[in-house]
Amino acid sequence: MPVVTGVLPGREAGEVWLTSHLCHPRPGANDNASGAAALLGVAAALAERRGRDLDRSVRFVWGPEFLGVAALLHERFERFGRDGRPIAVINLDMVGEDPVQCGVPLVVERAPDWCPSIITPLAEHVVEEVFAQTSAHAGTWRAGPFYGFSDHALFANFTDPSSRSPAVQLWHPGDPFNHSAADSLDKVSAVELLRAITAGAVLAHVLASDGATPLLSVVQRWCDREGRAAAAVAQRFDADHGAWSRRLVDHVREQGTVLRALVDAGPAACPPHRPGRGTFVGRWAGPFNYRGLLAQLSVDDRDEVVALFLADKRNYAVLTHLAMLADGCGSRDEAFDAASLALRFPIDAAAARPLWSALLASGWLEEAG
Ligand SMILES: [Zn+2]
Repeated sequence: MPVVTGVLPGREAGEVWLTSHLCHPRPGANDNASGAAALLGVAAALAERRGRDLDRSVRFVWGPEFLGVAALLHERFERFGRDGRPIAVINLDMVGEDPVQCGVPLVVERAPDWCPSIITPLAEHVVEEVFAQTSAHAGTWRAGPFYGFSDHALFANFTDPSSRSPAVQLWHPGDPFNHSAADSLDKVSAVELLRAITAGAVLAHVLASDGATPLLSVVQRWCDREGRAAAAVAQRFDADHGAWSRRLVDHVREQGTVLRALVDAGPAACPPHRPGRGTFVGRWAGPFNYRGLLAQLSVDDRDEVVALFLADKRNYAVLTHLAMLADGCGSRDEAFDAASLALRFPIDAAAARPLWSALLASGWLEEAG
């Protein structure tokens, strides 16, 4: 399967990428013909404005999921070094789901905790506005933490912070027809697809433009809302996880401070990386790849990890969070806590312990000293 890319050139260096994977068995109308079609729609919308106001280039990427983006990133890192990475990424995967038949909201999957970016509040602001303007039609949206089940994960999960790009995804998790023969064209909603196209086009345009958007009010509003959401989560878990609940509220407040500090640096800025604690060191080249990790495990350990993924797909996100957050932590339990704050739920230590052991047993994570 080819990797196909097209670019709308901007005036200055730097590229915003929109990605959507082409693969999956037929029919695959929503996963992912809808994302591939949405990229064409975004390209058509932005091309009409061509030459007028793009400061940065916008690149469209279609290819096989994971492998295509990994190959493209590798090629660009070879040619341009770290300048080859995009300044920001929007992944569209399963974006056309008919809200009535599929019964699931559009989710804005946020940039991960280790790569915070105002791309997150911007994406939510844009999607909120798109749904407000189309409120006569069925459908809702919500924000969700970074899980990393699609191509956007490849941009965030480098051990080297200077290789990372902030990335968000629009998708419909929980689509009951996904990966089945019922993922057919009748499950695609034209309105929902237009919502994704509009949100993708506006977000790409904002990210590729310098100084045109009043970012501070968008970010401040997001921080206020996020603070209220964290308080609600904390209240829900307060009885059984009181100390965790208080840490969550503090964590979200600190995140807001980090994001507000980025506003003046433009929509695609990343905060300076906090130096690692030196207790744990990630030992993988390129983006984190759980299949590569599994291949390094004994059969018993691998079976245990795969059983955890099958029991709850979020355990895959827990594994990624432990791998990525370990270098800022001084102990295993600190890493569990950092992952649970990022994912917004107290993670089950009984599941996290074998995942942590797998990171060490595979040699992908090393305990220093
Ligand atoms: Zn997909």
